Amino acid sequence: MAKITSRAEDYSKWYNELVVQADLAENSGVRGCMVIKPYGYAIWEKMRDELDKKFKETGHQNAYFPLFIPKSYFEAEEQNAEGFAKECAVVTHYRLKTDPDNPKKLIVDPEAKLEEELIVRPTSEAIIWNTYKKWIQSYRDLPILINQWANVVRWEMRTRFFLRTAEFLWQEGHTAHATKEEAIEETEKMIHVYSDFVENFMGIPVIRGIKTASERFAGADETYCIEALMQDGKALQAGTSHFLGQNFGKAFDVKFTNKEGKIEHAWGTSWGTSTRLIGGLIMTHSDDLGLVLPPSLAPIQVVIVPIFKGEEQLNQINEVAFEIQEKLKAKGISVKYDNRTDNKPGWKFAEYELKGVPIRIAMGARDLQNKTVEIARRDNLTKETQPLENIEFYIEELLKTIQKDIFSKALNYRDSHITKVNSYDEFKKVLEEKGGFISAHWDGTAEEEEQIKNETKATIRCIPLNNELEDGISLITGKPSRQRVIFAKSY
Ligand code: AMP
Repeated sequence: MAKITSRAEDYSKWYNELVVQADLAENSGVRGCMVIKPYGYAIWEKMRDELDKKFKETGHQNAYFPLFIPKSYFEAEEQNAEGFAKECAVVTHYRLKTDPDNPKKLIVDPEAKLEEELIVRPTSEAIIWNTYKKWIQSYRDLPILINQWANVVRWEMRTRFFLRTAEFLWQEGHTAHATKEEAIEETEKMIHVYSDFVENFMGIPVIRGIKTASERFAGADETYCIEALMQDGKALQAGTSHFLGQNFGKAFDVKFTNKEGKIEHAWGTSWGTSTRLIGGLIMTHSDDLGLVLPPSLAPIQVVIVPIFKGEEQLNQINEVAFEIQEKLKAKGISVKYDNRTDNKPGWKFAEYELKGVPIRIAMGARDLQNKTVEIARRDNLTKETQPLENIEFYIEELLKTIQKDIFSKALNYRDSHITKVNSYDEFKKVLEEKGGFISAHWDGTAEEEEQIKNETKATIRCIPLNNELEDGISLITGKPSRQRVIFAKSY
């Protein structure tokens, strides 16, 4: 097991090495696409299950739509099409044939050209609203509350494990409503479902807000987002929920008869979170020894490691350890007993630290005698000795404590990295020296936003929901402003 580069030395190298060494993912032969390995996928499955539960609790159902979108559908909502055009993978042919000049090679069969090109979905509004047209005639057909678990493709130029890949896994909710109010209520509801999940399940604090017009989803009237802060002071967009107005209703001619008997276009929302969240999880909690996972997401929550000399001692420890394992399992805790004899305890300790297992129980000859175990926490690296009796209750509580502590630690870091500034000089200084979220006044124009972005690489991450009103003057133009917005450099 090679040591990973420290965060202080090279944050980005630390991240890449950690992803590979903790066995979460690896690069593939396909540009920008990664292989998610079983340990990484197990984390995704836990996230998926929890989110899926929350979607169902809020009245949504899962469905599945085609991977391919005919170009004409895609073009129908112009803003959305234009926004995604630069990142689209396009299927033009449906057959290969043997190269007449080289029988070992296959070439695209020019005779198998598709009449209409197919876009590999970068997002599914087009195909879904084309379908909703058939499903919606009357207000009685509404609302439609559907979620899809899928993969999408966006031809990203600069990719990075989990945070930005050309193909990624996600869920996309697509809902249709009879009124504007109901659609806005849904958009807001889902951003809160996301923030609740990300904070309480993943232990990542987020700011809920809305995007400025230039950062908005192409084709949306309003984009709500949750923004997280990574340990290197850069922001990460952790989830988005879009109020689509009647844009897709009009583009796809989705009309219905309302209660008053009048014909209207349907109102829409869409919302998504992706495997990017795993990158956020790593960058929020982990340290120089490896992953730190919140118990709710850890594929293994507790590992038991025996410390022994000779077979006889191992047999004695085995007996007690299997008992602990059974008691923990009975409480629904995922536990591994690693009594392999081919690696030393020290090696195992390092391995499970790298993998982010929240609790390690070690047991040696002295523990056997004293009826105790040694318990080590991965999050704060503390160790203590505890009586064996009722250990399962102790561990159950400790897992809850760790879950809370991991969030509190991240929250403290986040809160100490929100800096209020009142001048552009101060803004640049904080950005350079400290990073993090910067709370500042902005004149509300795309021009000032663009200039700040060009000069500093910082963007407006969001206008926080429930923002306090405060009179001030904007950073560059000095125009009056009624509220602060959140800036940061971001992934
Ligand atoms: P959007 O449809 O652009 O609002 O994105 C929906 C969700 O997918 C957001 O949480 C994004 O942060 C995330 N996302 C966007 N692009 C990528 C990508 N290339 N790789 C991973 N996640 C992404």
